[in-house]
Amino acid sequence: MSSELLKIEDVRMYFEFRVGLFKTIPVKAVDGVNLEISRGETLALVGESGCGKTTLGRLSLRLLKPTHGRIVFDGLDITDKEEKELKWFRRRAQAVFQDPYSSINPFMTVKEILEEPLILHQVGDTEERLEMIIKALTDVKLTPVEEFVGKYPHMLSGGQRQRVGIARALILRPEYIVADEPVSMIDASSRAEILYLLKELQEKYKISFLYITHDIATARHFSDKVAVMYLGKIVELAEARELVREPLHPYTKALIEAVPEPDPSNRLKERKVIPGEPPSPVNPPAGCRFHPRCPYRFEPCDKNEPELKEVKADHHVSCYLY
Ligand code: SF4
Repeated sequence: MSSELLKIEDVRMYFEFRVGLFKTIPVKAVDGVNLEISRGETLALVGESGCGKTTLGRLSLRLLKPTHGRIVFDGLDITDKEEKELKWFRRRAQAVFQDPYSSINPFMTVKEILEEPLILHQVGDTEERLEMIIKALTDVKLTPVEEFVGKYPHMLSGGQRQRVGIARALILRPEYIVADEPVSMIDASSRAEILYLLKELQEKYKISFLYITHDIATARHFSDKVAVMYLGKIVELAEARELVREPLHPYTKALIEAVPEPDPSNRLKERKVIPGEPPSPVNPPAGCRFHPRCPYRFEPCDKNEPELKEVKADHHVSCYLY
């Protein structure tokens, strides 16, 4: 069995953007991405909002059909499969969304929320399903279970709702989970707990994770590899510790410098901000897409686009400096 679970090959997603009454132009939300996720591995996809990371996550789940390229899951090409041919995949790949409140039905109890995917995929009888629900709630530490099964989402805190979202994603024992900004909408006090829980469950069940975040500090902590995305392209890809210890791309360096200083004695130290606004994907700059914001730009940067290439063992970057 190959260690590779998901392979994304030259995937592009172009949307039509209407300008005026009759004209549309393509918006390159994702533009030629290659990525691989091994079994039991967590890959973090990091970048500012609007860079295409959520679209890439949705493509990897085949919630969107790419304009170009291939998506291969466990050796099977799922790029062009119709929904009825994807039922096996839907069981093996799940998502944890940013907003736990909008991703779970407010009129269903916790038990009903967790039972729904089991019924949909015809898993077990009533008694077996109840056992699975108890196990899933115990896994996400919503205990004592009897206290939670009958509750509705509005009776839970944001952190507890996200735990229900995680339990729902886990209940079918998937091999692949996309966690899209799973802690950005919950209390700061519960964020670390939820991330540690995800990591614990990932290790326990050997799940492959795509962890989508704007926060490179948590990406370093909770991932094996980090891919940095800028305007629809991967600009740097490396093992998580290596990438944070020795970032190469000027954009990655800027993201790391923008991380707030954790030492309370440095409270007054100014947090660096990345200069300029991210340019619009409607009209991306020519050459290197980061060049209007890059302090190191030089002669070729605004003419041709640099390719993503391996400049050190397992460390890829797309920048003319290397
Ligand atoms: Fe900066 Fe040029 Fe590298 Fe782009 S290619 S990141 S503009 S130095």
